[in-house]
Amino acid sequence: MSNVPEIFGSMVFNQHVMKERLPKNTFKQLMKTIEKGEPLDLEVANVVAHAMKEWAIEKGATHYTHWFQPLTGITSEKHDGFLDPQPDGRAIMSFSGKELIQGEPDASSFPSGGLRATFEARGYTAWDPTSYAFIKDEVLCIPTAFCSYTGEALDEKTPLLRSMKAIDEQANRALACFGEPKQRVVTTVGAEQEYFLISEEQYEQRTDLILTGRTLFGYSPCKGQELEEHYFGAIRPTVNEFMKELDDELWALGVSAKTKHNEVAPAQHELAPIFTEANRGIDENLLTMEKMRLLASRHGLVCLQHEKPFEGINGSGKHNNWSISAGNKNLLDPGDNPQDNLRFLVLLAGVIKAVDDYQELLRMTVASAGNDHRLGANEAPPAIISIFLGDELGQIVDALIAGKDYEGAAKTMMDLGVDVLPNFMKDSTDRNRTSPFAFTGNKFEFRMPGSAMNLSDANTVLNTAMAKSLKDFADAMEGLEGETFQEAAFAWVKQTLSDHQRIIFNGNGYSEEWEQEAARRGLANNKNTADALPCFIDPKNIALFEEFGVLSEAEVRSRYEVKLEKYCKLINIEARTMRRMLRRQYLPAISAYAAKIADHITSIKTAMPTLSTQTQEEHLVRIQQGLDAAKKAYDALATKHKEIVEIEDAQEMANAYAHELIPIMETARYEVDQLEILIPSTDWPVPSYNKILFYA
Ligand code: ADP
Ligand code: MG
Repeated sequence: MSNVPEIFGSMVFNQHVMKERLPKNTFKQLMKTIEKGEPLDLEVANVVAHAMKEWAIEKGATHYTHWFQPLTGITSEKHDGFLDPQPDGRAIMSFSGKELIQGEPDASSFPSGGLRATFEARGYTAWDPTSYAFIKDEVLCIPTAFCSYTGEALDEKTPLLRSMKAIDEQANRALACFGEPKQRVVTTVGAEQEYFLISEEQYEQRTDLILTGRTLFGYSPCKGQELEEHYFGAIRPTVNEFMKELDDELWALGVSAKTKHNEVAPAQHELAPIFTEANRGIDENLLTMEKMRLLASRHGLVCLQHEKPFEGINGSGKHNNWSISAGNKNLLDPGDNPQDNLRFLVLLAGVIKAVDDYQELLRMTVASAGNDHRLGANEAPPAIISIFLGDELGQIVDALIAGKDYEGAAKTMMDLGVDVLPNFMKDSTDRNRTSPFAFTGNKFEFRMPGSAMNLSDANTVLNTAMAKSLKDFADAMEGLEGETFQEAAFAWVKQTLSDHQRIIFNGNGYSEEWEQEAARRGLANNKNTADALPCFIDPKNIALFEEFGVLSEAEVRSRYEVKLEKYCKLINIEARTMRRMLRRQYLPAISAYAAKIADHITSIKTAMPTLSTQTQEEHLVRIQQGLDAAKKAYDALATKHKEIVEIEDAQEMANAYAHELIPIMETARYEVDQLEILIPSTDWPVPSYNKILFYA
């Protein structure tokens, strides 16, 4: 059994270690940088770097790296040794403040969407002291932001940090209206990570899984998730071993992995951490994903983080639990005194406004080739954004809008905004799994993000849109005091809720009626990535980012390009893989099997000319027809694919992939899958879903 308190954070240069190892003054200055965002001077950095290096070497580190998040979505690192050879032939280990605060990776091979011309290849990484350094595999990892030399963000973290600054500023303005002192306001994130584990042996036989992360073919298993036995079921021993090791490694890295369980689909699992500040929460999630992938191989397993590795059973998401906290106070907690209630209602109305005004932008942040298979597929939330408040809070909001008193289940007549909201909401917000954005007692749970995503984009948009709501409030309230302020704030809440009521929906998000109703309400319904991305460059959305200094227009445009490119590249890889598998695996195998049946017929006829071979002949006809259909689909796929790769405009290419190629890919898959269940597994070139999903 692991000694958790001893392990936890043992590989992290956290506040505790800093306090222990840094001279008092240095520690104080570093804290100022962390808490107030004050710049760090080089002298302080030198002292910190030295302490960090000594600590890291004691823990066995030999190298350091600036750990950053380029727009590829994954993390990047380049290891540099502490090694510093001396003229007398010996070596010392060195690490300077300059090396701590700034690095210069060759940026030319990271996507930049045309922001950084290749002749100006240099980019630089800058330490994000709000996220702790840690040691991973004998390397001291320093979380950093990644920018071009002209200062444009080339990564996921920079805009997130900028959005957190925006929310800190605007929330402080809003809180000041309530007479609150200046304090540090941050958004908090807890990311529930879903994933699949399958055996390495099966994985290696599936080119599609290896190259695309998902199965491009495969008939659904005889047994899916209908018995509901997997969810929270006993964890199989191999998986349990994996999870234990994962916990230990994550705890050492200071990741508070808290909950682990089997998920709904066979071979699917989930890990949920305890939430923390958004930027750190996202760093931790990325570390978790990396550790999952690496550790699985030690157990003969492969961790699939794709949003939809298998058709016909649930895919994997990553619920983004999000809240705002000031000091140690959760601002989305209704609280239990009247003053808190009004503040809560302002915050709530702010979120509702933010999500309604920027629904398309928020939906854009979760658009990816992988997630297109989830959203709107009756297992994950639909592609339409709406907010679930639950019955009680929903009724309170209705009453507020109607200007009526609310008589709650607690049977308290309430004069809203003055009286106390009873502390019932936490328990009575029941689970609505169909809602993309649900209030869950003291936080919102954004359920659209896919399992493979970096959550920075989603949180950057949430934070920025929320900063805008808070700014709107503060602009209207500043200068008002006492009862005048209370009345004005209350009126703002009422007006905001009425203006944005359309985004609130407590019903079944899977139903067809909702799709129609949402259209009547004017809510956006962008069904795939190609349709969802263009709103990124809408003037309204660019204006939002620029207003809060989160992204410049050039940065927005470059990110839009990167996203388009990534989508097109992924579908291109899928199409190529599909064609290759059809040509080299499926079509030959089906043809060989048809010949085998033909041989059977001949040998039976030779042995007993009078015996009927009708069964075999019918089977042969069926197989041969299937082969023709699969070949036809292959030809259509190849023709269309070749046509699309010639398209020059990236958006047009994405549109063609989404609307023209993907339907053909679906047909090709269908034709092959139909044959899979007619042909013995010994004659089938790849392992079936039955085999992959159910293992000991
Ligand atoms: P449930 O999914 O049952 O609601 P929890 O309430 O424990 O489970 O929370 C699920 C996730 O939400 C966890 O990762 C948790 O840390 C996170 N979470 C809880 N409170 C907050 C908060 N204020 N801000 C962000 N995330 C939170
Ligand atoms: Mg949850």
